[in-house]
This record gives sequence, C-alpha cells and structure tokens, in this order.
Amino acid sequence: MDNWRGISATDNNPRANAVRPYVDNPTGNSKIHGRPRAVVPTAEIFNDMKILWDVGANCVRPHPAQSHRNINRRDDRPRSSVIPRNAEKPTDDRGRSSLQKFSTSEKPKEGMAPKMLDVILPGTGGMLPSDTRWLSTCWLESQGEAVLIDCGEGTQIALKKQNLRLGNVNTLLITHYHADHISGLPGLLLSLGNYGKGADSPLLIAGPRGLHKIVESLLVIAPNLPFPIELREVGAGDIIAFDNWSIEAFRLRHGTLCNGYRITLTRKPVFNPEKANALGIPPPLFKVLHRGENVTLEDGREITPDMVLDGERAPIKVGYYTDTLTFDRMSEIFTGCDLLIAEGMHGDEAVADRIRDKKHSMIQESARVAAKAGVNRLWLTHYSPALINPREYLPMARGIFAGAQMGFDGIKISLPEGDRGR
Ligand SMILES: [Zn+2]
Ligand SMILES: [Zn+2]
Repeated sequence: MDNWRGISATDNNPRANAVRPYVDNPTGNSKIHGRPRAVVPTAEIFNDMKILWDVGANCVRPHPAQSHRNINRRDDRPRSSVIPRNAEKPTDDRGRSSLQKFSTSEKPKEGMAPKMLDVILPGTGGMLPSDTRWLSTCWLESQGEAVLIDCGEGTQIALKKQNLRLGNVNTLLITHYHADHISGLPGLLLSLGNYGKGADSPLLIAGPRGLHKIVESLLVIAPNLPFPIELREVGAGDIIAFDNWSIEAFRLRHGTLCNGYRITLTRKPVFNPEKANALGIPPPLFKVLHRGENVTLEDGREITPDMVLDGERAPIKVGYYTDTLTFDRMSEIFTGCDLLIAEGMHGDEAVADRIRDKKHSMIQESARVAAKAGVNRLWLTHYSPALINPREYLPMARGIFAGAQMGFDGIKISLPEGDRGR
C-alpha cells in the first residue's frame, strides 16, 4: 500500500493507471503489483490512507456528515486570546470614534478652513501579517492625490478594506527592503492597473539605494502594467516635491539602509471675504484670487491677491518612521509635526534588549521622541506579532507623551486639527 502514497491518478502517470483496476473493479479481488488485494470501497481507502488524490470529485467527496464536521471544527476549538482585527478601533483619546470623520470634502465649521490632509494606517503590524493586523502601511491623501508608504504582503487588501481609492496613488515611498515593507508590491501594482491607473498617470516609487534592482526584480512577476513607473533612489536630505507636497527623506538606524520621511503640505493663505466684499468683487472670483491669480473686474479695476488675503497658514507636517533605533536628531527632524507615526515594536522592558539588538524601537522610546519634538499627536505602529494588545501600554506611553495613541488598522485623522485649521 505504501507504493500508492503521493501518486496522482492521471492518464500521464503509469503508476497511477496501474492502480485504477483495483479502485474501479466492483467484482472482488484484483491484483496490484502482482499481489492479490481485497476490494475495498473507494471512500474507505481514502479515509484509511489519507493520501492526496487528484481524481474526480466523485471518488473523494467526503461523507456529508464528515464534511460538516470539518467545516465546523474551527468553531469547536476554544477561543484563542487573539483579538479580532480592528478590535481597538472604538474611540480615540477624546472619546470619539476615530472612524467618525474622514473626508477631504468634509464641510468645515464656520470660520474654519477645510481639512487638507487625510491620514490613515490600513496596517500596523511588523514582520508578518496576523489575524489582527496587516503589515505597516500609511496612506496620506489630499484633494485626490494620495501617497502610500510601504507595501508589505497583503497591503492591497488592507487598502481595499478601508475603501481607499487605489487609483489615486501617484507616489509610493518605501522605507527599506525587508519583506514586510515591500513584498506586496507586485500585487499592488497589478491592482492599481485594474483600478484604472493608466498611461497618463505615472507612479513614482522612491526608496533607499537598491530600489532599481528590487523593483525591477519584482516587476518580472507583474509585467505589462498599463501605467509608467518612475524609480527614484532617495537618501538623507533628498526632497520629492510636487503641487503643494514636499517629502523629505532621512536615514534611520536599522540593519539595512532604511529611510524615514517627513511630509509637508503648504497651505494657501487665509482668504478674507470681508475685504473682497468691500472691494465689490463677485464671489465666483474669490477662488481665483485665493489661488494667487490677479483678476480684472468689469469696471476695469485690477485686483491682486494681497488685497484680499490675510497672512500665511502654517504648513501641515507628518513624520513617519519604523524599523530603527531612535536617536537624538529625531526630535529635531520632527519638531512641529501635526502627527508623528512611529514604531512601537513592543512596550515590555523585559524584551527591550532583544528589540534593540534587532534595531527596532520600543513604544516608550518613540513616546520620548514625540515629547522632545513637541509634536501634536503620536500614533504607534509596526507592532511585534508577539504584542497581542498594544493598548496595555497606552498609560505608559501617555505618561511620557500625553498625545500618544496606539495605532490600529483603520485609524484615521483629518489634518490640521482644531485651531490649526484656521
Ligand atoms: Zn518591518
Ligand atoms: Zn526591517
């Protein structure tokens, strides 16, 4: 009987064909390899031998009762301590749902400027995706222009779960080339094509030295994309600029070349409608002046933007780093950030040495960076798979920096917050 193990019963497999008379013969004894065998009903053979057999479903379909039992077996097991995905999503530190508002088209309150930048973490895991977390990735979007940071295994699923428009991604920043930050690239690129990204919508992929070799290798399994790709290797101090975006790379301290990024969005100055009305400017021209262009009124008067604009608005700044030891200059890099998204691999001091040996940051270390930099808000991310419930460490993190929040898959915010929107 051992001779059968692993044999596929296909027409091209002579050993498999040899066993067919035995299985098919309904009449009694048969011979296999010269030895007489008793005929046994086919289903029993499979139950006893548990071999993998790629013949038609009629031969191997399990008994309905058995099938039912197999399907339900997962539910019969005792519940594990793993918390379900998004189990941490309920409220932020202000007691409101973090999912309540997330839209660039959100109507601003009286006297408030519209929100300029939406930020979301579709994944917050480190090393490998788990039942509760996709791998760390960050989506930043302003007025239909999206920037994505990192794409580990399954990132395209994480993005779809948050109903993000994949076709809006024009810039992909890679921090480094460990698998949990890049291995989802081929699938993501194919999906971008399927979601309407075309020849007139190039994708810029930026990352540390080695980008060309890595991406070109991965493109072997994602050929014939319908949109062009531009590759740009960036290191300390390099800036990617487009529209009102400016993205600066800086070097981190990991086991391999690794970048952090600081994203800055400049904002238009404050428009003063009272000044515009006093000058008799028709409201449809307000937008033109706010864009910084001159207008000529019907009576021939030339109006320049400085006649209706009141002062500059501070830019919006978001800092991002994972996979690094923290270092002193970080506080300088992130000074004044509205939001810092930072690695919090673990919070237990008992494992801190191990985490640092692998050149990763502890929750408390990133909280110290946020406090020293004076950022407005901190999100922790890139958790160890061994860290089941990061919220255990929230009180400790807030003891160091009051604006700390434990990131989770789906955490979102629209920036700037509060008075910064004026
Ligand atoms: Zn990582
Ligand atoms: Zn890494």
